[in-house]
Amino acid sequence: MIFAIKPFEIHDGDGIRTTVFFKGCPLRCKWCHNPESLSFEKEILFDNELCTSCLSCIGICNANIAKDGKHIFIKENCTLCGKCEALCPNNAFDISGKEMSAEEIADAVLKDEIFMKGSGGGVTFSGGEPLMQVDLCIETARILKKHGINIAVDTSGFVKKETLDKIIPYTDTFLFDIKAIDDDVHIKCTGVSNNQILENIKYIDSLSIPMEIRYPYIPAMNEGEAEKIAEFVKNLKSVKVMRILPYHNYAERKYNTLGLNYPLPHIVPPTKEEISGVIEKIKHSGVKNAIPY
Ligand code: SF4
Ligand code: SF4
Repeated sequence: MIFAIKPFEIHDGDGIRTTVFFKGCPLRCKWCHNPESLSFEKEILFDNELCTSCLSCIGICNANIAKDGKHIFIKENCTLCGKCEALCPNNAFDISGKEMSAEEIADAVLKDEIFMKGSGGGVTFSGGEPLMQVDLCIETARILKKHGINIAVDTSGFVKKETLDKIIPYTDTFLFDIKAIDDDVHIKCTGVSNNQILENIKYIDSLSIPMEIRYPYIPAMNEGEAEKIAEFVKNLKSVKVMRILPYHNYAERKYNTLGLNYPLPHIVPPTKEEISGVIEKIKHSGVKNAIPY
């Protein structure tokens, strides 16, 4: 179950990459900017702000009705047939989630093989949590490896060691988030403990597989974790780079389109100066390769 395949990504590992977004995630990070990645199921996003009440979609199903000349969407009545997505002139509908075979994913990725190879890039399996669908990752990786494609896996790390062991032979680089070292803070931010995540990062480090570590910096949530994370990272020998991801609230509208409440209270995104200060702190704690996202 895939919710997007995006070519020409430059923030998901080295070079120009095609990022494959696997649907479904066991974490519930309060700042998640891909809320459509959370559920493993196919679902519909409806953006009320794009709807002009042209009423073209009235009558195509029981989910779209008109009242007083205005369009009303009743999500519970949607059967995910997809007719509205093609019909709406304002692209107010988006069906998220498509079942794809490894061959279909690989074909989509290989369209941009020349750019990936020319830039030292490759493919990045992301999500959601790609390793919830580890067998699909492996099948896709097998095909792509035959074409010499570099493979990065962007994982929450919240997976069993046996699952990691399955994907390791195909992985050139792992991308891990560290959201907090204090487990209470981690549970508050994500809903799960960080024990398995930190163990998995140490395990990958012990195998000397290159890693990129990301620290999503979320004011009022995990801002006090910077130096603790730096202390942990400085003892790892396989970290190529540590990136600091500043909080942004661009996803708030997406939550509305899914009929979900945005889980964070109002938080002011950090300024460039604030992020520079965080990076200085991290460098001062011994992680010299810390950079902004
Ligand atoms: S996906 Fe089908 S059932 Fe759902 S709103 Fe669109 S047309 Fe109606
Ligand atoms: S077709 Fe699109 S713009 Fe027209 S009423 Fe339906 S959702 Fe609104």
